[in-house]
Amino acid sequence: MPSLFPALVGGSVAERSALRFGDRSLTYAELAASAGELAGRLGGAGRVAVWATPTLETAVGVVAALLAGVPAVPLNPKSGESELGHILTDSAPSVVLAGPEDQLPDAVRELERIDVQVYGTGAAAAVPPPEADPAAPALIVYTSGTTGPPKGAVIPHRSIASTLDALADAWQWTGDDVLVHGLPLFHVHGLILGILGPLRRGGSVRHLGRFSAEGVARELNAGATMLFGVPTMYHRLAEALAEDGELAKALGRARLLVSGSAALPVHDHERITAATGRRVIERYGMTETLMNTSVRADGEPRPGTVGVPLPGVDLRLVEEDGTTIAAYDTDGTPTGAYDGESVGEIQVRGPNLFTEYLNRPDATAAAFTEDGWFRTGDMAVLDLDGSVRIVGRKATDLIKSGGYKIGAGEIENALLEYPGVREAAVTGEPDDDLGECVVAWIVPADPQSPPSPDELADHVARRLAPHKRPRTVRFLESLPRNDMGKILKRALKNG
Ligand code: ATP
Ligand code: MG
Repeated sequence: MPSLFPALVGGSVAERSALRFGDRSLTYAELAASAGELAGRLGGAGRVAVWATPTLETAVGVVAALLAGVPAVPLNPKSGESELGHILTDSAPSVVLAGPEDQLPDAVRELERIDVQVYGTGAAAAVPPPEADPAAPALIVYTSGTTGPPKGAVIPHRSIASTLDALADAWQWTGDDVLVHGLPLFHVHGLILGILGPLRRGGSVRHLGRFSAEGVARELNAGATMLFGVPTMYHRLAEALAEDGELAKALGRARLLVSGSAALPVHDHERITAATGRRVIERYGMTETLMNTSVRADGEPRPGTVGVPLPGVDLRLVEEDGTTIAAYDTDGTPTGAYDGESVGEIQVRGPNLFTEYLNRPDATAAAFTEDGWFRTGDMAVLDLDGSVRIVGRKATDLIKSGGYKIGAGEIENALLEYPGVREAAVTGEPDDDLGECVVAWIVPADPQSPPSPDELADHVARRLAPHKRPRTVRFLESLPRNDMGKILKRALKNG
């Protein structure tokens, strides 16, 4: 397989800026020198852990490991001791790559340490990278741990290349694009899409270190063309837009605003569109599958949908008993018999998929159907034009109440529209009568005068349907979220 980074080995954009973090940056020639030199030193290593701070060193370390054909395991520097211990024991790296300034905790200090050097122009010559075996493991990325302890997904070179090329097609993504990046670098979104994506295209990354609305505006005003964010970031932008006309102008300049990792609340999407005239492109993926669907750059983004399957990705909806209720015709619309509203589990197949969960043959086997499709655990309906509308996760977002299957997502969207509601989450709770009942968890905008629980529940019943009315409304100061801003429903349920 040709290299993942033709721009890095081909030298065609040698003097173009590849990466900038704060006031430090590397051109493609400089990145080739730094990563090539490190790759030369890594040859023959087993797995390498990367202490994934949002820095140039992390990007250089991961690129070097990919060039050397050595599987890399990005570590979240903010992981607690027990999560870090779990990941290190599970992935058993022999080496850790870190920045010279990084202080490593005890658990990591036991590994052989290599400080990543970042060279300027004229430094060490690039070591020619070996050809990567497309099926060989490139990265071992741990899932976000939203539904249980993180699992190590073994991601081959082929998956990275195919997902990035499918996104390039959907987003008309080229080497002229400049990405504003404010995400962490130890998950698929920030690392594979946000760093490896631009590098594969020969484009540029501007990493903010820490996300801020001002940083986004500054980079867009300076010529950046794309923004990748998680819904909590778009929420903060939506809030800031209410008082900042300059921010609206800056966002209006972006070629693409892309959201993923969790559902973008319809209310935030609509506020952003109202203030900037721009739609947000939603895409849907997982650590195990990389990207499955996206709204296309030339498509019609509709709040609440995550677009259509990417080129090369097969997608179907399947009922609990294994019956396929929807697949796609060759023209991209759902097969004839599908009614446009039945909910099924999303199952996918394609070159984007991972190989296995590390050390978890049982979990790997359970994740695939007999005919080789990956069970995402996400429930959805297909709109009749083929767009996927995610209802929520099978495990936590599907409430079985009085014979109905109710998706948490649409109730959350309805609650978020209501004045005085800042954040909302919906769960199911055991109920003698109904099997389960709907519970709403609300963070009020003003804790001194929260909205009336009855009026809030009535609003949902009026807006959606009476059986979707929350039985109980509970107020909280904040919702439990992980570092990608995903709501931890199991923490809510367990108190
Ligand atoms: P774990 O598997 O450890 O419980 P996780 O599923 O949150 O954690 P990830 O692989 O980071 O770990 O996240 C993938 C999940 O994120 C998907 O299965 C889906 O539920 C959710 N997701 C991603 N993008 C979107 C989106 N655009 N809309 C709705 N949900 C999304
Ligand atoms: Mg998952």
